[in-house]
Amino acid sequence: MDKKNIKTQNVYVSEEENTLNWNDIQFSFKKTFGSEIYNSWLQKISLVKEYNDYLILGVPTRFFRDWIVSRYLDKILEQVKSFKLSLNRIEFKIIEENKHNQELASINELSKVTEIKDSILNYNRLNPSLNFESFVNGKSNDIALSYSKKVCEHISRYNPLYICGGVGLGKTHLLNAIGLELQEDNNVMFISAERFMYHFIKSIKKNDMVNFKDFFRKSSVFIIDDIQFMSGKESLQEEFFHTFNSLMDKGSQIIISSDKSPMKLERIQERIKSRLAGGLVVDIDVPDIDLKEKIIKKKIEEIQSQFKENINLSEDVIKYIASESKTNIRELIGVLNRLIAFSRVHNRILNVGDCKNILKDVFNQIRVITVDKIQNVVSNYFNISLSDMLSQRRSRPLARPRQIAMYLAKKMTTRSLPEIGRRFANRDHTTVIHAVKTITRLSEQDEEMKKNIAQIKSLLLEQ
Ligand code: ADP
Ligand code: MG
Repeated sequence: MDKKNIKTQNVYVSEEENTLNWNDIQFSFKKTFGSEIYNSWLQKISLVKEYNDYLILGVPTRFFRDWIVSRYLDKILEQVKSFKLSLNRIEFKIIEENKHNQELASINELSKVTEIKDSILNYNRLNPSLNFESFVNGKSNDIALSYSKKVCEHISRYNPLYICGGVGLGKTHLLNAIGLELQEDNNVMFISAERFMYHFIKSIKKNDMVNFKDFFRKSSVFIIDDIQFMSGKESLQEEFFHTFNSLMDKGSQIIISSDKSPMKLERIQERIKSRLAGGLVVDIDVPDIDLKEKIIKKKIEEIQSQFKENINLSEDVIKYIASESKTNIRELIGVLNRLIAFSRVHNRILNVGDCKNILKDVFNQIRVITVDKIQNVVSNYFNISLSDMLSQRRSRPLARPRQIAMYLAKKMTTRSLPEIGRRFANRDHTTVIHAVKTITRLSEQDEEMKKNIAQIKSLLLEQ
């Protein structure tokens, strides 16, 4: 036997500085996590190398590693710390069963070891601060919030739950909150569609699809973020469809988010769309001023209690930020942080005038909105082709979007009516006037129209 490495079951001890007894630690894992989790996961972890402040642990596969990291890393670290206080991180090395010994020989090649902090492993980690408690309730997200909570109380009653809404409106926050709520008693998988693809492709390359399928189909709560990412990716959709069906068959809860409602998803197979729409679809709308104010106040509270500092923003300033900011909540929080940072650095209480100056660049960003851009965004939004939208056909599903695009071109660009007409396949300026009048009237009378216009505008402003 190699002098340096003394092998006992699952234990590799090397060099004199070691103080840990892996058997003891394993024993404590079993006690803390229970024998089921222990037998299927933790038992298979081996100690590869011990340093003063970190450990390298060996695991059999990437999936195994990702699973452990996403669900147990914090607790594992806590446990090992109780044996050796100086430890502050854990790194994992994939040691395939048959290569075990070989790998150990080259274990000192630390460059091969994946660092947790900047690796892809963090993808499935739930963010503890994105919980229900920190999610502020308002008109625009009320239904989405209440069904997110209901899903946690009655797993599989609303299946799948599909949450849709524009950028930065709180979809990921809600998904994360559901994951946190359910992770105690369930196998929660939380992944973005993009990550799902990443794993999918890697598994194909490694010829490891069996593991991939197992890994994702094992979960009892499967949360997938930003499903629109699968657009146009046929083989990914194929795999997702099977994962979806197999999870539904065994009664797992599925929660999905997207920037569009299922039927508006582009280049996604029809059978998937109808599956997605088959449960409960809830949407998050753009926040009104009231909700924006509440979010600002909540954030201030959070910062105050977290950093034990007093943040002095007057009602006026809060109102100003809420009314001037766009509808994207992520940006709203960004703006708030910027103001707080400024007032901290300059040690002064800001008034509305100061805020205007500080935020000049942010609010007055020159966004070039062109007729082309409007045409693209509108046709995308209504899921019709640009050429159909510009064609002479008069059917309502084409005529309405066409009129909306003309209306927005008039409102959001400096183009004249004849110029706009020309851009719409050489139409007359009277057609544009008619469109502007029609949409102005409809957007006052018709809730659906009002909402469509608001969403398209925010899409235009976000790009
Ligand atoms: P999306 O996934 O829809 O693009 P996120 O969930 O990432 O949006 O939300 C963007 C940011 O805004 C996050 O920091 C999130 O915590 C915050 N946020 C969104 N909605 C709310 C809300 N209702 N209350 C508190 N914070 C919110
Ligand atoms: Mg998101």
